[in-house]
Amino acid sequence: MKLVLLGAPGAGKGTQAKSLSKELKLAHISTGDLLRVAIKENTPLGQEAKKYVESGELVPDHLVTKMVIERLSREDVSEGFILDGFPRNRQQAVELDDFLSTKSTCNYFAFYLDASEKTLIKRLSGRRICGMCQAVYHLVNFPPKEDMVCDHCQSELYQRPDDKEETIKNRLAVYNRQTAPVVEYYSKQNRLIHLKADAEASLVLDEMLKILATPFTLLKEQKKKV
Ligand code: AMP
Repeated sequence: MKLVLLGAPGAGKGTQAKSLSKELKLAHISTGDLLRVAIKENTPLGQEAKKYVESGELVPDHLVTKMVIERLSREDVSEGFILDGFPRNRQQAVELDDFLSTKSTCNYFAFYLDASEKTLIKRLSGRRICGMCQAVYHLVNFPPKEDMVCDHCQSELYQRPDDKEETIKNRLAVYNRQTAPVVEYYSKQNRLIHLKADAEASLVLDEMLKILATPFTLLKEQKKKV
């Protein structure tokens, strides 16, 4: 099974992708995570990407697409994948299709997680991450047991620089300008599954799993009613 998760920053792509990946045993490919690792390790890609990620701008297509295609070419992706954070604009969507059309099947669905701006801002501004194991917390919705300390590995939590208020605004503007058109791109291809994503994560996950339990061919038939 191949899935693409679309939605504004804070819509829950990362949270849902992690749960779906566990549940369905599919590789979770998060371009944001791959870029943050490259930045942390100070690789040539990380050095180029840093200023874009920290300001909330998109990293240039040629860098991100190359990184994704390399990742999609690895063996653990043979059973399928969940793409989280890619494609982020129409050009990336076209390049993904070009790449997948060289593989045995180009069948995939795109879930569009649609949350209100109020929800997005609340989720992003309260998000805290473990610097060691990358576990994700929220100051209000999912606080750690001890203030700013990871429940799993006791490392210190931090706020992503791009989750600061000034940068959140830019990320949402970038999303509306560049990524929102990808929703239409997939809708025209009859791949889009539109889900309201303001509810708590477990409820959204249940909804996604229910939809995915439908056989692929039926899903394609029924999708417009979802
Ligand atoms: P995310 O963790 O998905 O919110 O991504 C964090 C940041 O990584 C974004 O604000 C971009 O700067 C960069 N990024 C992630 N995915 C992409 C992509 N597909 N294209 C360009 N930049 C990306």
